[in-house]
Amino acid sequence: MKKFSLKTVKGFNEVLPPESFRWRVVEEKFRELLEGYGFAELRLALLEPTELFARSIGDETDIVEKEMYTFCDRSDRSLTLRPEGTASVVRAYNQYSLGKLNEINKLYYVGPMFRYERPQKGRFRQFHQLGAEVFGEAGFYQDAETLVMLAQFFHELEIKGVVLQLNSLGCENCRPAFRERLQAFLKQRLDALCGDCRRRLDENPLRALDCKNPQCREAVADAPLISESWCTDCREHFAGLRSLLEDVGLEYEVNPKLVRGLDYYTRTTFEFLAGELGAQNAVAAGGRYDRLVEELGGKPTPAFGFAIGFERLMLLVDAGIAPLPRPFAALIALDEEALRLLFPVHVNLNRGVRMTTLGFQQKSLKSQLKKADKDGVEFALIVGSEERARQEAVCRNMKTREQFNLPFVRLEEALRELYDECRRSS
Ligand code: ATP
Ligand code: MG
Repeated sequence: MKKFSLKTVKGFNEVLPPESFRWRVVEEKFRELLEGYGFAELRLALLEPTELFARSIGDETDIVEKEMYTFCDRSDRSLTLRPEGTASVVRAYNQYSLGKLNEINKLYYVGPMFRYERPQKGRFRQFHQLGAEVFGEAGFYQDAETLVMLAQFFHELEIKGVVLQLNSLGCENCRPAFRERLQAFLKQRLDALCGDCRRRLDENPLRALDCKNPQCREAVADAPLISESWCTDCREHFAGLRSLLEDVGLEYEVNPKLVRGLDYYTRTTFEFLAGELGAQNAVAAGGRYDRLVEELGGKPTPAFGFAIGFERLMLLVDAGIAPLPRPFAALIALDEEALRLLFPVHVNLNRGVRMTTLGFQQKSLKSQLKKADKDGVEFALIVGSEERARQEAVCRNMKTREQFNLPFVRLEEALRELYDECRRSS
């Protein structure tokens, strides 16, 4: 018969134990922090009508132009695996009229995103994001609260060396004039621009500002700055945000060329960068998008949001932050009868806490003790034919190597007492 091997789709990142345990601990911290700030979870569809992303993210963006997993279903509808979360959250906000239920809506999500990119360190085709959006707050207090919350998250995870970069993209009043100025500037440097930037010159000239191509970088080095075009409201919004961040001691850098790859941003945009991540250095990113809810058919509603790249985050999180839970005791059965005797003890002790392990294969004492050592248990409880004759198990302290006997009639109780004692003294 022909041998075959089935594998995941290229670049689809899966998370195996023990790493999956660390992911869960980090995710739990995220949920706790956000729920503390009044966010609630949205569990969203993974598949959306393609139009949603074309209309929200923008036709001339990397995502929509070349990164989407788009295909037709059996009734020939064009569907897309979501490449990001914001569009879906806004779609849900409108679809379920969430704005009517609460004046302010703070929503978060956790889950996979899909982009057809070249897989490499920190870049996958199925990757995961932790994200959040706030609807209904127009002022800079919301921007500041969200940024501080993110910084607190990195701090809690003991991640160091993350730099917050900030910019403002202006609004519908002042950005058009800037676009024109920038277009005029870029047109004089057409030869120096890469194909992408040249092609986007009409639709999306701002993208040239954060193009990674070294030649483009050089060409835009002395480009006009958006800050010179801000209207009074945008200027005040940015100044207000900066002074709030200073009040609470959150350090940041202003990066006047930070534009982000999506069309929907207005005013504040930001990235949290970690040098440790190399070329894929943005661990979280987001900003304000005051027009998107309306553009997708809702009432005008200001909004602010972010997404953290889960894979990139985990590259920065030290393994020590989430030590694997260790079982407390290894129950070691040396024969079938001992196994029958220990089985009820084992299942009764493992409710909610992982207290015991029990090998079902009755391997040699030596190999079971070796396994117990590897698992890092505190005690091993050994039952073989001799112990059965005496109606007592041998209990061995794995650290001190001390041994004592425990009568069969109170095995469960004795193990519970030992467990409580150990927890109290640690
Ligand atoms: P980049 O500039 O690295 O391509 P981006 O601007 O496309 O990032 P966003 O759309 O803002 O990224 O997504 C938010 C975060 O999601 C990023 O900061 C990053 O941490 C993560 N991310 C984006 N694309 C990928 C990917 N293909 N694989 C893993 N993580 C990703
Ligand atoms: Mg990208």
